Amino acid sequence: MRRVYIPEMTWEEVKEALREVEVAVVPVGSTEQHGLHLPLQSDTAFVLHICRRAAEEVYPIALVTPPIPIGISRHHMKFPGTLTLREETLIDVLMDVGWSLKQHGFRRIAIINGHGGNYHAVKIAAKKIWEEFKVLTASLSYWELLPVEEASRIIETFRARHAGHACEFETSLSYVIQPELVRRDKIRRGEGIETSIYQGFLPLDIFERSETGLPRGDPTKASPEKGRKLLELIVRELSKFLRTFGRMETPER
Ligand SMILES: [Zn+2]
Repeated sequence: MRRVYIPEMTWEEVKEALREVEVAVVPVGSTEQHGLHLPLQSDTAFVLHICRRAAEEVYPIALVTPPIPIGISRHHMKFPGTLTLREETLIDVLMDVGWSLKQHGFRRIAIINGHGGNYHAVKIAAKKIWEEFKVLTASLSYWELLPVEEASRIIETFRARHAGHACEFETSLSYVIQPELVRRDKIRRGEGIETSIYQGFLPLDIFERSETGLPRGDPTKASPEKGRKLLELIVRELSKFLRTFGRMETPER
């Protein structure tokens, strides 16, 4: 059996696995509103699922830690249930996880992010883990790995380098990863104000753009078939990344 998820393993199994493991994968999610039709766990559920599938694919070179289930979501706080950390807190948590992994001999860490709001914090954490603990650390948001043309053939509304929010992309993934939690009767087109996610989205309150929490995008275009294809593509690309990163030379300490 290909055990890759640390919380489901015993310490003895982790010790044994460490003979061959090259990369510790740390998924980072959010607990954040996802419109009227998706649950607050969505980002965490996606990123954990993706990391586990990729680690199984590249077995035995990667193990996956539990996901960090709360991210930077201050711009969603008008929606009940949303939880947020401060940037400093998320960076500190990731640093502590990095320190722990170093104690057990992990030589490389891949922080895999599943929520746009965490974008900057995970980059800073990766840099600090390298600088302070000398563990080679990469960080990326999983949608950054997607070849744009291929992804656009699956998801009509795919925008280069971003998964969107509770739209066609995330709703399609939900049909595969958390189908029982999709409120199909609540699916509507996004009716909010169109803005690019990277253009000053952090100071913007999502509620100002959409009272349902779905500022743009079109989840009515989502389907389980699209979700399966998209997931295959994401897992393929993340596996490729983990193989390359696992072989990378670690600089002299
Ligand atoms: Zn999301």
